[in-house]
Amino acid sequence: MTEKSVSKTIENTSIVESAQANNDVYVSVVIPVYNEEDCLESLYQRLIKVMDGLGKTYEILFTNDGSKDRTSEILRELYNRRPKQIRVIEFNGNFGQHMAIMAAFERVRGQVIVNMDADMQNPPEEIPKLLMAFEQGHDYVGSYRDGRDDSYFLRTVPSKFMNWLRSKATGTKISDQGCMFRAYSRRIVGLITQSYESSTFVTVLGYTFAMNPTEIPVVHQARLEGESKYDIYRLVRVTFDLFTGFSMAPLHIFTVFGFFVSAMSGLLVAYLLGRRLIIGPEAEGLVTLFSVLFFMVSVAITGIGIVGEYVGRIYQVVRRRPRFLIKEIIEDQSDIRKGPQS
Ligand code: UDP
Ligand code: MG
Repeated sequence: MTEKSVSKTIENTSIVESAQANNDVYVSVVIPVYNEEDCLESLYQRLIKVMDGLGKTYEILFTNDGSKDRTSEILRELYNRRPKQIRVIEFNGNFGQHMAIMAAFERVRGQVIVNMDADMQNPPEEIPKLLMAFEQGHDYVGSYRDGRDDSYFLRTVPSKFMNWLRSKATGTKISDQGCMFRAYSRRIVGLITQSYESSTFVTVLGYTFAMNPTEIPVVHQARLEGESKYDIYRLVRVTFDLFTGFSMAPLHIFTVFGFFVSAMSGLLVAYLLGRRLIIGPEAEGLVTLFSVLFFMVSVAITGIGIVGEYVGRIYQVVRRRPRFLIKEIIEDQSDIRKGPQS
């Protein structure tokens, strides 16, 4: 690895770069990586085998999302093995899976971009299937997990419910939003990177730009090594990203509910007033009163929380801070056509 061939850049990513188109690269594979030291070697072996077998030019972009294990060293080592095909983006901290994908999307050179996880839950051997659908003229090839091999009650059932809720709230027809294994056209990836959002959901965002989307089933396996990076709290966070990013439904529901409760309270007040005038003052009913009050207060607090979720995200965007910070990019620049910025 010579100093000349490797670009080491500390960048402020507040300016959205447009990747340099390079007709020499057909497929770009984008893989976000967070503490995946146990997966990377077998991922590399299987992926390279599939990609070499395609007989097309390709590149693989890994984004190291601030891993604390040996991921960084392993990625460097993989780069050294295949400097022409592998590029590594090193984040200066953990900015989340979707931002890791975004950083790679800003830099891909391929005509078709495949996104996958590092843990091989969607086997690399399925990539040709995605490409086949892409070559049939679809600009967005989604996938759904065929025979999902994850904890049934902790992941599969909540995910099914969320998929149903999302399709109702956002009107997007995606069977399995959480399955990141997808192929996108260059145009869609360009539009995704231009959408300057700090908390987004790449699969759904891409879908909103698609002209001819399709979906195919892909094999899903249990994680072979390491463990899921999503605990319940993180899953709730990304679910909020999803809903606030693509739907106003939570706010609408609250407004409608607010109107409904106001109307009911109006009736109740009228009834109580009438009762007081006709029957006289009422000393009992404290429990009822408090239960209604507590219910209303909890609803109001939830409402404030929901508004807060939107406001917080607006705040993040208006501050215009960088969405992520790149420490270093490890890539071979010898055969990249020089773009206007370089
Ligand atoms: N990931 C990441 N940053 C994070 C969390 C996860 O880049 O903060 C990566 C992770 O390394 C993997 C992918 O995103 O390649 C999906 O994560 P995981 O397999 O843990 O999610 P699950 O399959 O359990 O939904
Ligand atoms: Mg996984």
